[in-house]
Amino acid sequence: MKNLKIAVVGAGVVGITTAVELQKLFRNADIDIVADKFDVDTLSFVAAGIFRPGTSFTGPNEDITRKWINDSYHYWDNIKNSREASNAGVAEVSGYIFSSEYPQIVRNEFIEKLVPIYRTATEDELRLCPGKWKYGSYFTTILSQCSLYLPWCYSNFKNAGGKIIERNIDNLSSLGSEYDVVVNCTGLGAKYLCKDRKLVPIRGQVLKVEAPWVKTFFYGDYDTYVIPCFDSVTLGGCRQYDSYDCTVNKYDGLSIKERCESLVPSLRNAKVIAQRVGLRPHRDPVRVEKEILYNNGNKVRIVHNYGHGGYGITTAPGTSLYACELVREILMGNSKL
Ligand SMILES: Cc1cc2nc3c(=O)[nH]c(=O)nc-3n(C[C@H](O)[C@H](O)[C@H](O)COP(=O)(O)OP(=O)(O)OC[C@H]3O[C@@H](n4cnc5c(N)ncnc54)[C@H](O)[C@@H]3O)c2cc1C
Repeated sequence: MKNLKIAVVGAGVVGITTAVELQKLFRNADIDIVADKFDVDTLSFVAAGIFRPGTSFTGPNEDITRKWINDSYHYWDNIKNSREASNAGVAEVSGYIFSSEYPQIVRNEFIEKLVPIYRTATEDELRLCPGKWKYGSYFTTILSQCSLYLPWCYSNFKNAGGKIIERNIDNLSSLGSEYDVVVNCTGLGAKYLCKDRKLVPIRGQVLKVEAPWVKTFFYGDYDTYVIPCFDSVTLGGCRQYDSYDCTVNKYDGLSIKERCESLVPSLRNAKVIAQRVGLRPHRDPVRVEKEILYNNGNKVRIVHNYGHGGYGITTAPGTSLYACELVREILMGNSKL
């Protein structure tokens, strides 16, 4: 009997996490990752990778949104507690979020009861960084650095028999003649593949600096953040709605540097090693659903998993596990389509 064939289109954090989970669920299936960009060329590579869902992160309803976030946390926490943690680029980090004006900015109802520590910052802690900080929280969470996580996953995927194919896809349904199911994890690429007007880029830029003495993360007002990663510290940031500019902007870089140095003055001694830009694939809600398309009259089964915006490292595992269930349903014909 012929093996089940599944294509996962996309090799960013969402695609690779989905592919690895599909391998666990369908042990005898032939699973291919098909993508036109890998590793350093993906958006996922740009992210600092901190587990902190924005309070605007939205799935199809409240229960599913929370399930995605909770499942994701447990996925990252399991890797963090395993002997593979450092190979996979997953570690615990702690730090502060401050605001000079808005108390709600320092709260996060998605994770306050999920992470091991989430508490109000003390008066002394509010004076840790220069600035007139009125509100603050201290919390512990997880950092997943994609420059380590993606290669670790690619290698696990290949060792489990998965195949990686470099190819641009201009029509998802064209894969229907080769595969039983196509899982669409193309991030912003889905804007064109699915003609999805709800998908909007939110441009971001970060600096990577050498500052091994920074062990704590700090968030300040106006998208300012300092996040210690495995091999560098990430300084951010900006959020530019509907911008398609993938080039490094000198003025954004200067503004980020100035804001981060005023938050953590010791960064003035840090060497800049890279500047990176990425377009966050923002969609409200994130799309994880089944669809049947037709190619020359033949049914093509699709499961979408895209639109994670600025929270794709945080939430990729939860949406991927959900997408795997949808693959199972669509294969069993247990579909309400
Ligand atoms: C500055 C910045 C900082 C961030 N920090 C964080 C953070 O700290 N925490 C967090 O959770 N998130 C963060 N994010 C968000 C995170 O980076 C994204 O949500 C996540 O990377 C999205 O992953 P993805 O797999 O959907 O997309 P991508 O990484 O873009 O992967 C998409 C894949 O699809 C493939 N593809 C697309 N179209 C086609 C096509 N037509 N044919 C073939 N292949 C195709 C691409 O080649 C690629 O392999 C940040 C983003 C930015 C910009």
